[in-house]
Amino acid sequence: MSESEESRLELGLDHETEPRRAGLCADCAHARRIESDRGSVFYLCDLSASDSAYPKYPRLPVMRCSGYIVQTK
Ligand code: SF4
Repeated sequence: MSESEESRLELGLDHETEPRRAGLCADCAHARRIESDRGSVFYLCDLSASDSAYPKYPRLPVMRCSGYIVQTK
């Protein structure tokens, strides 16, 4: 993992706080939420696999992102 402090959230945040701290990644179709064994949460950006403009583990919160697509359930 190439995560940094800025891309890490603590595990156990409530359902209002985590989206606020994560920003757009929290409900983006390209994001995968990862929980580490050490009690941290990361958002892995799937676009990073095909486009180097997108970091694998974005610094949070992401406030603006051209790749953002809202996740539909
Ligand atoms: S496309 Fe942008 S908003 Fe979506 S997961 Fe990647 S960095 Fe986050």
